[in-house]
Amino acid sequence: MGPQTIDDEQLTEFEGVFHGTVIRPDDADYDDARAVWNGMIDELPALIARCSGTADVISAVNFARENGLLVAVRGGGHNVAGSAVCDDGLVIDLSEMTGVRVDPDSQTAWVEAGATWADVDHETQAFGLATPGGVVSDTGVAGLTLGGGIGHLRCKYGLSCDNLRSVTLVTADGEYVTASTDENTDLFWGLRGGGGNFGIATSFEFTLHSVGPEVAMCLVFYPSDQLVDCLRAYRHYVESAPDEVSTLIFAGELPDEELFEGDDVHRQKFAIMGCYAGSVDDGTQVLSPLRELAAPIADFSGVMPYTDFQQLLDEDYPDGMRYYWKSLYLDDLPDSAIDRIGYWADVAPSPLSTVDVWQLGGAIAQGDVEDSAFAGRHAPFLLGVEANWERPGNDDANVEWVRDCLDDMRQFSDGSVYLNFPGFLEDGEDMMRTTFGPTYERLVTLKDEYDPTNFFSRNQNISPSGPSRTDREANTGE
Ligand SMILES: Cc1cc2nc3c(=O)[nH]c(=O)nc-3n(C[C@H](O)[C@H](O)[C@H](O)COP(=O)(O)OP(=O)(O)OC[C@H]3O[C@@H](n4cnc5c(N)ncnc54)[C@H](O)[C@@H]3O)c2cc1C
Repeated sequence: MGPQTIDDEQLTEFEGVFHGTVIRPDDADYDDARAVWNGMIDELPALIARCSGTADVISAVNFARENGLLVAVRGGGHNVAGSAVCDDGLVIDLSEMTGVRVDPDSQTAWVEAGATWADVDHETQAFGLATPGGVVSDTGVAGLTLGGGIGHLRCKYGLSCDNLRSVTLVTADGEYVTASTDENTDLFWGLRGGGGNFGIATSFEFTLHSVGPEVAMCLVFYPSDQLVDCLRAYRHYVESAPDEVSTLIFAGELPDEELFEGDDVHRQKFAIMGCYAGSVDDGTQVLSPLRELAAPIADFSGVMPYTDFQQLLDEDYPDGMRYYWKSLYLDDLPDSAIDRIGYWADVAPSPLSTVDVWQLGGAIAQGDVEDSAFAGRHAPFLLGVEANWERPGNDDANVEWVRDCLDDMRQFSDGSVYLNFPGFLEDGEDMMRTTFGPTYERLVTLKDEYDPTNFFSRNQNISPSGPSRTDREANTGE
């Protein structure tokens, strides 16, 4: 879709009914408003409509449709591929819609779609409750949940999307619908793992669980020459660990001058991070073997407030740095895969980059594959390859490192990926078909029903079976 022309009269009319802020390219706050978390992204939207509520979302959708505008939807703005913004089109920005309401008696939270996990944790922890989110607290609830949602409570309580009771949504027609296990059930199925393909979620209703206020956690760093032996023992540990345990490995230089001293700062190492979703005493005991896999470089394990644990990684992912991430579900974690993980961590062009292994299984694997569109329940582990760097001159080397690592690691995978860790929006339909397998056709049927013109195309896209709006315009020269 080329540069868009917006009808002045319609724009004035739209601004007249819109309660939030409409930001144009010559406004002083335009550059701040179009910036997303990933500094690699530099898109120049024609307009940004920062919504104050559902009525604004409906107006923005209708305005975009009537003016043939490309649309991007922004929740927390943390998508690595920068899909929350677009060149020339309209950004429908929900980042001001951050309300969270908790009913402790029914253990339910209603969360507006611009909230971050920090907003959710703040409100829910006031009642000693939590729902599974992500491991960095300023990530958006909306994008993360619609793509699945893998966080520190995952093996005990499942994915974020497994804890949804309902979602309210504005469709491409500007209709307001509710999806739950009682209403629009097929849509509810697709929203849990199918991403932002079917409409704009305006709020989420989550089930809450008793968690905290303190949790037993581990964060222990080992030298990289111990990787194979330690991860072999780790693999054995997670096979029999209770579902309360969810862990994550980071391999890389991990150069943190506040955490390490002298030569240890720039030494290749790996970290095991995890928490226990249960009693602090049980957790301390159950996590202890992870602290004794070898002689650690440093061990920060202990007991801490759940909200602090949720924010422990925030500083490692500052806004505006350069990022390119990809993922692969792993069939297993054989010694040869561990060996390759060590190799790729060693040759990363940036000291800030890591190769990560997320433990899956537990409640994720126990979830019924028919209940939601989420595609990764079969995998015991998820590989994340994260290039994180500072200088634009180093873009090519970092992107190439991620792609080469992924190509090599495919030997340990069926090729399916986690939708929420895309480098750019570059992988297309083949990757979506590989990831969803036979489920893909059901997603296409749902897309045909809710978004037959591919109005919501700036995402990990499920193409409708008919010609999309973009194709039709190209063919007719409109
Ligand atoms: C630092 C960091 C840490 C992360 N940690 C985790 C983690 O622990 N676990 C995990 O599972 N993922 C994690 N992720 C990945 C994260 O799930 C995705 O980046 C996700 O897209 C972020 O959601 P957002 O709302 O911030 O995204 P945005 O960039 O705002 O939106 C991304 C896409 O989501 C869709 N979307 C957003 N809002 C809506 C809406 N209201 N309605 C419909 N569609 C919408 C749109 O397609 C949009 O293009 C992390 C990402 C980062 C950057």
